[in-house]
Amino acid sequence: MHRLLPTSTAGSLPKPAWLAQPETLWSPWKLQDEHLAEGKRDALCLALQAQQHAGIDIVSDGEQTRQHFVTTFIEHLSGVDFAKRQTVRIRDRYDASVPTVVGAVARKQPVFVEDAKFLRRLTAQPVKWALPGPMTMIDTLYDSHYQSREQLAWEFAGILNQEARELEAAGVDIIQFDEPAFNVFFDEVNDWGVAALERAVEGLKCETAVHICYGYGIKANTDWKKTLGDQWRQYEQAFPKLRESSLDIISLECHNSHVPMELLELIRGKKVMVGAIDVANHAIETPEEVANTLRKALQFVDADKLYPCTNCGMAPLPRQVASGKLHALSAGAAIVRSELM
Ligand SMILES: [Zn+2]
Repeated sequence: MHRLLPTSTAGSLPKPAWLAQPETLWSPWKLQDEHLAEGKRDALCLALQAQQHAGIDIVSDGEQTRQHFVTTFIEHLSGVDFAKRQTVRIRDRYDASVPTVVGAVARKQPVFVEDAKFLRRLTAQPVKWALPGPMTMIDTLYDSHYQSREQLAWEFAGILNQEARELEAAGVDIIQFDEPAFNVFFDEVNDWGVAALERAVEGLKCETAVHICYGYGIKANTDWKKTLGDQWRQYEQAFPKLRESSLDIISLECHNSHVPMELLELIRGKKVMVGAIDVANHAIETPEEVANTLRKALQFVDADKLYPCTNCGMAPLPRQVASGKLHALSAGAAIVRSELM
């Protein structure tokens, strides 16, 4: 399927300024109705083109059709009241006004399947599609119905499985679940978090990935990182369970972070998407910096299982910065690829 060290991104890319306010999370759309639908598709084409120009091997939609990586999926489900807002603490870190679960949750229609078919028609390259993970979904909601995080996560896992099966049928090669919450709620990860994720991938024949990161480069996250000390060992908590799990690929933050690279030894045997691009600052990495991170990772990840990637999504970055970082990722991977030949 791939050449050695196939590159990809964690998922999101900046949206064009005519579609949504740049450098803003939950940025409101600037278009309406059919113009919005058309604008999202146009932006998806541009996001694909940006990846192709940069030589990215496994492409995505750049998440151009969603306002936010969690809320947009939830908006399509029944049982959640978006008018009934509650303030909750997200990932134990920052307060946000979120919708309320008021009844049994269900997926009445496909969420991203048409978008995935559209992307599939545009390219023959391998396609990766990101969905929120069950634990991260429940962490972005107020639940007045189930009143059990585990039960709600289990319901979401079933819904995600329905969506994932249809994405697979639409020709998606890798389905990725974003679980930044895995870096925070360690007991729950081990009690039911990984199990819920395995429920979400049940029966899939395409490859599956879980993305665990330290978040976008927003202030709440950078402030939190300052409290984590010199060695970020959060991954250590989830890795043993993930190594035993049915997930094929684990996507991680590795560049400019304080994650000790030797933690990757704990998931030896899994494919690893190694974050070699920092999304929390605007400085564009040199190819040599990217190559250095990949070389360090190669001590703990077999070359045929190493997928150079970004630390997280690039949605909040200026477009030209994101484009520069995509090129740096490709160029850095090319350096290490030539060393391995
Ligand atoms: Zn991330």
